[in-house]
Amino acid sequence: TSAAFLAKAGHSVLLCEKEHTCGGLLNTFERDGFFYDSGIRATENSGVLFPMIRKLGLDIEFVPNKISVGIEDRVIRINDLKSVEAYQELLSDFYPENRHEIDEITIQIKKIMNYMEVQYGIDNPMFLDIKEDRDYFIKAIVPWMFKYAVTAPKISKLQEPVVDFLRRYTQNQSLLDIICQHFFQNTPAFFALSYIKLYLEYQYPLGGIGTIVKKMVDYINNHGGVIQTNTEILSVDPENKLITDSSGKSYGYRRLIWAADQKLLYRNIDTEKVIDSRLREVISNRRDLIKDKTGNDSVFTLFLALDIDPEYFAKIASGHFFYTPSKVGQSKAGPIPLDGDRKTIESWLKDFLALTTYEISIPVMRDATMAPPGKTGLIVSSLFDYKLTKLIEEQGWYEEFKVYVEALIIKNLEVSIYPGITGAIMQQFSSTPLTMAKTSGNTDGAIVGWGFTNKPVPAESRIPKILKSIQTPIPDVFQAGQWTYSPAGMPISILTGKIAADQVIRELK
Ligand SMILES: Cc1cc2nc3c(=O)[nH]c(=O)nc-3n(C[C@H](O)[C@H](O)[C@H](O)COP(=O)(O)OP(=O)(O)OC[C@H]3O[C@@H](n4cnc5c(N)ncnc54)[C@H](O)[C@@H]3O)c2cc1C
Repeated sequence: TSAAFLAKAGHSVLLCEKEHTCGGLLNTFERDGFFYDSGIRATENSGVLFPMIRKLGLDIEFVPNKISVGIEDRVIRINDLKSVEAYQELLSDFYPENRHEIDEITIQIKKIMNYMEVQYGIDNPMFLDIKEDRDYFIKAIVPWMFKYAVTAPKISKLQEPVVDFLRRYTQNQSLLDIICQHFFQNTPAFFALSYIKLYLEYQYPLGGIGTIVKKMVDYINNHGGVIQTNTEILSVDPENKLITDSSGKSYGYRRLIWAADQKLLYRNIDTEKVIDSRLREVISNRRDLIKDKTGNDSVFTLFLALDIDPEYFAKIASGHFFYTPSKVGQSKAGPIPLDGDRKTIESWLKDFLALTTYEISIPVMRDATMAPPGKTGLIVSSLFDYKLTKLIEEQGWYEEFKVYVEALIIKNLEVSIYPGITGAIMQQFSSTPLTMAKTSGNTDGAIVGWGFTNKPVPAESRIPKILKSIQTPIPDVFQAGQWTYSPAGMPISILTGKIAADQVIRELK
């Protein structure tokens, strides 16, 4: 986003990407005629994505991305705001003894969804131009500001972890798990409980998530920007304003926007070589502050190519499906065995994978060209712990672990929601938190930046202060992306990219 808007403004831009393609956690790849999204499975606008696309004039066709939620043999389709009641009924049928508590929780969900309606109810002003969009400012933004002034304090009171928040209403751990286990650990209540509203916003770009990246890459190239892939930046010299890649080639900069892992930025600076003692100190302070901070959850993803017509899946649920095979809840699997031996870990995995919630994405159900005719590609993932995966690698059974988990996921889906898939598998492979860490360079393979378990989270988390979130203590170096603000995700990465670009444009005027 930064590169695109800087190129749009006529600046000389160099984008360095360590992988062979751009996009990071926004990506689509092809294997034998099946297209899979390796990162985010669908997009939500949040007042950011579409204004960005409009401002750049990108031609991307989106289709609605319908979400379903399922527990055991029951599935509901999230079609409109009334789906909250269908969700309430679903929960009440599974936990009849908690019916009244579920009613109370539903009241809270509806309230929070209304707050989020306000928060994301406008095109983000960062993508508006006071002259070009004058009418929109007067008719939409000004009245919105009044509503937002009333709503913002209510949202900021809902920062506590969603499970703690819901414990005020129910003590049933299974119920708490079913509502919360597909969110990151300690996800703030306002973020988690607004999700049914966000589900309604999800859209899918034809050609897959990678289409957005492809169009942005074309835009940057067509506007004089330079993109260098396979270019990993290994060193930043803030005094001489130089970055150096893995081949030893250096590039000078007037302004640097660091849009990758934040710990890496500070690791890449050799403070011994920084002459200015004050600069050395602020860089070291920041590096020390974030050194032990952890990334958010990561994911284990199974990719399946199946000799089954998409129609089979369409009858069961929509093309983006949050499915939990058991109402028991994953707490029953016990804590993650971070000091366990292989036998203990395997036993835990067996329990965990039968109880966790799967995010199932079926690209061909949104775009018929995403798989060969009559066949279906499935992307099945569960949030998964980076440290456990690392331990398994250290214990020397990482490849066997992947095979083991793949088999358990397939078995769990076979005996519950998708009978018959096992015999139809044409190809299967998986990615783990280690894959995520390696390909994106993100700490702990985190898929949305800083963990909510950090106390405090080392990033700005107040929306009114977001303009400041891109600042670093290093002169002429800005940050953007998922480590810049919390809670993060694709819209925040885009938004902070735009804010950083605007700041640079202002400074270089
Ligand atoms: C399975 C999954 C589901 C998700 N679901 C959602 C969702 O529903 N909603 C939502 O909002 N978000 C979701 N996300 C998160 C969202 O995709 C990310 O938060 C967002 O895409 C992060 O973008 P980013 O550009 O900040 O960082 P990244 O995508 O991590 O990009 C960083 C880039 O920097 C490159 N890089 C790293 N180090 C270097 C270096 N030294 N030199 C050069 N280049 C380097 C990397 O290769 C990468 O391309 C999901 C992510 C995943 C994986």
